[in-house]
Amino acid sequence: MNYLSTRGRAPAVDIDHALAAGLAPDGGLYVPQVVPRLDAADFAADEELAAVAARVLHPFFAGSRLQSQLPAICAEAYAFPASLRALDGSTHLLELFHGPTAAFKDYAARFLAASLGRLRDAEAPVSTVLVATSGDTGAAVAAAFHRRPGFRVVVLYPDGRVSPRQAHQLGSFGDNVHALRVAGAFDDCQALVKRALIDADLRQACALTSANSISLGRWLPQMAYYAASALACARQQAAPLNYVIPTGNLGNALACVLARLVGLPIGDIVLATNANRVLPAYFASGSYAPAASIATLANAMDVGDPSNFERLRWLYPTRADLPGWLAADAVDDVDIAATIERTWRERSLAVCPHTATALCVLARLRARGEARACAAVATAHAAKFDSIVEPLIGQPVAVPPALAAMLARPAHAEPIANDYAALRARLLALPA
Ligand SMILES: *Cc1c(COP(=O)(O)O)cnc(C)c1O
Repeated sequence: MNYLSTRGRAPAVDIDHALAAGLAPDGGLYVPQVVPRLDAADFAADEELAAVAARVLHPFFAGSRLQSQLPAICAEAYAFPASLRALDGSTHLLELFHGPTAAFKDYAARFLAASLGRLRDAEAPVSTVLVATSGDTGAAVAAAFHRRPGFRVVVLYPDGRVSPRQAHQLGSFGDNVHALRVAGAFDDCQALVKRALIDADLRQACALTSANSISLGRWLPQMAYYAASALACARQQAAPLNYVIPTGNLGNALACVLARLVGLPIGDIVLATNANRVLPAYFASGSYAPAASIATLANAMDVGDPSNFERLRWLYPTRADLPGWLAADAVDDVDIAATIERTWRERSLAVCPHTATALCVLARLRARGEARACAAVATAHAAKFDSIVEPLIGQPVAVPPALAAMLARPAHAEPIANDYAALRARLLALPA
């Protein structure tokens, strides 16, 4: 299996190369040359998440020295459940927050770390995993690579634009993890990382690699929990499962799209954004107008120019090519807050602001008569966003043990200007 760049000006590479590189040398994103097909009947009825993951990813690793190691890699990465919680007969919550940093990004970050760890040459210099985060990616990547020999992690996050608990988490690792708080927005952090990754001299000097959602090693493994939940639903109800997915950089939702194209029993896919409505606007008008991101209650989705949009365009070049089963809708802060409050009142369930965007969009669909089986994707635990959720529900949210342990550690992050030269100098000064 070969991978091409969305920009078409880089040579085709195998997946081992694409994983190590992150971004293609022409600045594009790697995509599979062909989408492999699987049959739902290939999956055994009682397969665990890790086994489903290995089976879904197998054809994508054809020719890779990692292919035979997928069962072990997946056992490491998918070591906690992705529970499909029934809220009522046809509505489910796909809970993806049971990992160490309490957000869905744990799965793919751990997959990437387990893969890069196995691809690494024992004699190679220490690799620097450079990552921009709107809050959750950085912690997941840092947790996945923390104390892993041969790697260090540099996390850039927008100072003052992540939740207090997210900031604490990012600064709590120490050891081989460096947290830099940037005087800017998430899009600035992302632009700095993209620039560093195409700076050939710096790349060489620091053995840079990326772990943002543009990396294939983040994108592909996210198919696993869609595959597992869709197969479980198809088995119980003999019908495909429809998904509403909180969306920012469009990595997680495009993994669901890929899982559908592979042949899994997935129905409609609806992207739920916050007030950064560049994707719903594109779906409505056909013109893509990236904008500066605006701060919302669902901060991990404060993205004005989704980095995976190039992959959507590669799949469907214009609006006319978009399939009927794919849609997008935006939820502003008023509706996010109202949904958190209502979900608590009606279901005694505390949800994070990102999850609330999906629940709000799903409620709109139900009001218009949608009666089929639908899953709203719960992308983070409410306790990560206690400062938003607790005042709305009037109760403390219980903190999961892994998150509590991280919050109990001291935290430190270095301030840095929103300036490429400053970042470059900082990276070159990292200890060997
Ligand atoms: C990252 C994140 C999202 C957005 O996912 P994308 O893959 O960037 O679209 C949604 N919710 C939470 C909690 C996140 O951390």
